[in-house]
Amino acid sequence: MKILAVGAHPDDIEILCAGTMAKYAKLGYEVYICHVCDGSKGSNIYTSEEITAIRRKEAVESAKIIGATSLTANIPDGELIVDLESRIKIIDILRQTDPDLIITHSPDDYMSDHVNVSKLVFEATYLANLVLWKTNFPATTKLPFLYYMDTLSGLNFIPEEYVDVTDTIETKIKMMLKMKSQIGWLKDIHNSNADEFIRVVAKFRGFQAGVNYAEAFTQKRMYPQGLTKRVLP
Ligand SMILES: [Zn+2]
Repeated sequence: MKILAVGAHPDDIEILCAGTMAKYAKLGYEVYICHVCDGSKGSNIYTSEEITAIRRKEAVESAKIIGATSLTANIPDGELIVDLESRIKIIDILRQTDPDLIITHSPDDYMSDHVNVSKLVFEATYLANLVLWKTNFPATTKLPFLYYMDTLSGLNFIPEEYVDVTDTIETKIKMMLKMKSQIGWLKDIHNSNADEFIRVVAKFRGFQAGVNYAEAFTQKRMYPQGLTKRVLP
């Protein structure tokens, strides 16, 4: 199986579902992590050019921890809107990876880039499969399963499925700690320690699921994906 996680910014996948991605990697699946935006506005210290380069490097290094491939659509932070240009960029992310399963943001997360990524990925699951829509890459060969990951701090999110990440929580935190530029930024902007944030949310979801640490998901119900199957690890 090929697994694709699509987040808005370099650090979203690491905060929200890296424990599950690490589990897929351990199972020997091909894992792709895409940050749609370029990270260009996530700093009070560096210029946009500097922080874009820094965050790209951090994303690649973080993915390397689990042997995943890092991708980006290079859309500037905050400038991601649902239009034809973005739709084609996301279609091409799916076509480059031809995933069996995709994890992306919940449709009701805390900021516009997250919400727009969620919508664009949902649209692309079907559209990327249309062979008569010519883009830079050939059409996907299947319709993937689509799951929404938890929101930031779990607000507005009622989980339907959980993944026990007790055995990958430390890997998840290591992946986040590679995002060094964002550790200071999250502290400055949200007064939040990234590793504590990850651990507390995973612990809370773990309490709900009866395990030490968990990540929470919902499945987008789409015709005709097999809703009788469990495809989360
Ligand atoms: Zn984000």
